[in-house]
Amino acid sequence: MKKKNITILGAGLVGSLLACMLEKRGYQVQVFERRSDMRKQKLIAGRSINLAMSVRGWTALEKAGIKEQFEKIAIPMHGREIHQSNGETNFQAYGKNNEAIYSISRGELNLQMMNLAEEAGTVFHFGHKCTDVNLETNQVTFETENGTEYHTADLLIGADGAFSSLRTAMTKTDRFNYQQFYINAGYKELHIPPTENGEHQIYKNALHIWPRGKFMVIALPNMDGSFTCTLFFPFHGTPSFDTVKTKEDVKTFFAEYFPDVINRMPDLLEDYFDNPTASLVTVKCDPWIYKNKSLLIGDSAHAIVPFYGQGMNAAFEDASVLVDLIDEDPNADDWSDILKRYNDSRVKNGQAIADLAIRNFYEMSDHVAKPEFLRRKKIEKEIGTLFPEKFNSVYEQVSFTNNDYAKAWKRQKAQDVLLEKILKIEDFKEIPFSQKALDQLEILLDEYQKVIG
Ligand SMILES: Cc1cc2nc3c(=O)[nH]c(=O)nc-3n(C[C@H](O)[C@H](O)[C@H](O)COP(=O)(O)OP(=O)(O)OC[C@H]3O[C@@H](n4cnc5c(N)ncnc54)[C@H](O)[C@@H]3O)c2cc1C
Repeated sequence: MKKKNITILGAGLVGSLLACMLEKRGYQVQVFERRSDMRKQKLIAGRSINLAMSVRGWTALEKAGIKEQFEKIAIPMHGREIHQSNGETNFQAYGKNNEAIYSISRGELNLQMMNLAEEAGTVFHFGHKCTDVNLETNQVTFETENGTEYHTADLLIGADGAFSSLRTAMTKTDRFNYQQFYINAGYKELHIPPTENGEHQIYKNALHIWPRGKFMVIALPNMDGSFTCTLFFPFHGTPSFDTVKTKEDVKTFFAEYFPDVINRMPDLLEDYFDNPTASLVTVKCDPWIYKNKSLLIGDSAHAIVPFYGQGMNAAFEDASVLVDLIDEDPNADDWSDILKRYNDSRVKNGQAIADLAIRNFYEMSDHVAKPEFLRRKKIEKEIGTLFPEKFNSVYEQVSFTNNDYAKAWKRQKAQDVLLEKILKIEDFKEIPFSQKALDQLEILLDEYQKVIG
């Protein structure tokens, strides 16, 4: 039987990966991308923007049969290196068993996946911006340099990012739920170059964080010895992008809050003024499918804030789940069932990781400086040490397993309730806990176990 012709909108991370996966299963794939071909632009030769890849991302690459080649360009980060205001640093391992998340160049990952898809038979159409989708006929309208073009697909996949054109078409259908909101912080990319010998200036195998309450800088290592840094900073208030506007402002701000970073960033001023200030949007919607004709995947279905390092990982997991469902019924002519099961499996998980990421943002920006928060963290750590079987880290669930995000979110909410109760009980003031506190803890943990199931 002739397999469907599948059209993917967007040649970003998940569009390129999915093209590789579908080609392997005998589908004819065409990808339409708004931008020109990044492989011809030498963009990648410039500064690298990197991402943290964790287990879910690797699982998808393995399923696509392309994991090994990306392992060669990924740097393991075994924990967070926290840089305090007074210059002290401390390393916090991510897991108990030396687990790591991996820093990988976004451009290199995208470029190599495009090459692999093309080698497998995918046809890429660059400079094709989708401007309209007829959901009933699957006719897509594109704006190109040569004018308007039309294309019709058997199955249409919207991998066209946070402002998806397919999703826009879906918002006009009955009972389509849609929510979009921005946080009051944006970001700017900065850069720490390598030493003269091409080595990393700070510890290579960590994700570096300079937390300063409502703002922070993070840094992820690159293969060339440099670090890509991101300043997360409020748009308004003091200090903020509103108040740090001149070269003097930038120098004063960094000297005050990041004195150990400023010395390592010779191009700070150029980076600050040349690189865009970008905003951070969360998108939730439901459903992610239209009849048996189209589906959303990746950021088009669930744009999330980057404070859990999971946007791409979640997108890759969407692709894994979709191809697993296809494999269960490889000769399906009508994809109604596949799409429905994809929707049932993914929407709740996409919404859960969006909530977890927002929660992490508020935890990092609002609570981190409060004494109550520090006490809570100490208690959490103590409970995890005393009862490792009963009280697992949510971060580990999210980053080092393929377990549902929805379960991790449920666990997070139950932990929040548990910790709130504990913080109110006088007996938990001291660590190590007294016998009386331990007895109460056993009861509270049993209640907690019942909630998470
Ligand atoms: C600052 C920051 C840091 C991040 N760090 C991490 C991290 O460490 N780990 C992680 O897992 N995730 C991270 N993410 C999230 C990650 O970048 C996204 O989740 C991921 O890029 C989603 O991939 P995608 O293919 O769905 O969308 P995109 O990568 O955005 O690709 C969408 C593609 O569609 C194209 N397109 C858009 N509109 C149209 C149109 N109308 N017609 C045709 N083509 C179109 C775009 O040009 C683009 O090529 C981060 C995000 C940000 C903002």
